[in-house]
Amino acid sequence: MILSTTGHVDRDFHVTGFAWSPTYLLDAATPLLFEAGFYSMGPLYARDIRKITGTRDPSHLFLTHVHYDHCGAAAYFKKVFPGITICASRRASEILFRPNAIELMTSLSRNFTHLAETSPDIEGGAILHSPFEPFTVDRVFEHEEVVAVDPDLHVQVLFTPGHTRDMLSYYIPERKILIATESAGCRSQTGQIVSEFLVDFDAYISSLKRLALLDTDIFCQGHHFVYTGRDVGEFFDSSLQAAFAFRGRVMELLTMEKDSVDRVVERIKEEEYDPNPGPKQPERAYLLNLKTRVAHLARKRG
Ligand SMILES: [Zn+2]
Repeated sequence: MILSTTGHVDRDFHVTGFAWSPTYLLDAATPLLFEAGFYSMGPLYARDIRKITGTRDPSHLFLTHVHYDHCGAAAYFKKVFPGITICASRRASEILFRPNAIELMTSLSRNFTHLAETSPDIEGGAILHSPFEPFTVDRVFEHEEVVAVDPDLHVQVLFTPGHTRDMLSYYIPERKILIATESAGCRSQTGQIVSEFLVDFDAYISSLKRLALLDTDIFCQGHHFVYTGRDVGEFFDSSLQAAFAFRGRVMELLTMEKDSVDRVVERIKEEEYDPNPGPKQPERAYLLNLKTRVAHLARKRG
């Protein structure tokens, strides 16, 4: 099955907040959160989480990476769930100390808040209008490990670089749940899979192949969709194909456009972004991401 809404997925696993940028909740004896979406939406995520957990606070927030649309509400979660342990990779924790990274997250978050204020799907009165608040990582993963949350609940931390260098995926063996977000690509509302290698195409492919080998019943994208059962394997096959097709198309366009990265970005945007009626990534964030991917491939081409 392919789920496209928030709500209950299976057993104690839920999609909260917004399907297009969710926080995943495993409501086990000790509740766990994965991903922290957008900054301004913090109160809406927290309200949705509370509806399920009641007075039990989540013990951990596992972040796959520190892009502004994946870690945005972390500081807010720390306020409303004071005992929560924020977990991420060493690189992610270091990025959060870089003034230019915080500046970019603040600017992109502000941009998103303006969009959210006028969106009919978002309760404007309930969102935060203040600037993005940075946070620190409480538990830094230096290497791959298994976090024993309870005797019968474990979170396996996997290093899956390619989208970013700080990128992690989380696998819960007792539930066969995989939260890999952009490590595995992201199918958009139009059905097209966006290949999400920003820093390293080859590493992205290796990570994707490695994740595909896991015994997964529930696979969580970073946005829009959760896959269960047979659709998980199908997604991984399509995502691998999409990555090679995207690379092929970029190479073709680089030849046609005489190696102009900007022109290729324009043409890919016309094919990939413009026909998508949404909800989709804000244009500025999309273009930043796309330009990084095209420039990476252009450099590889030499
Ligand atoms: Zn990302």
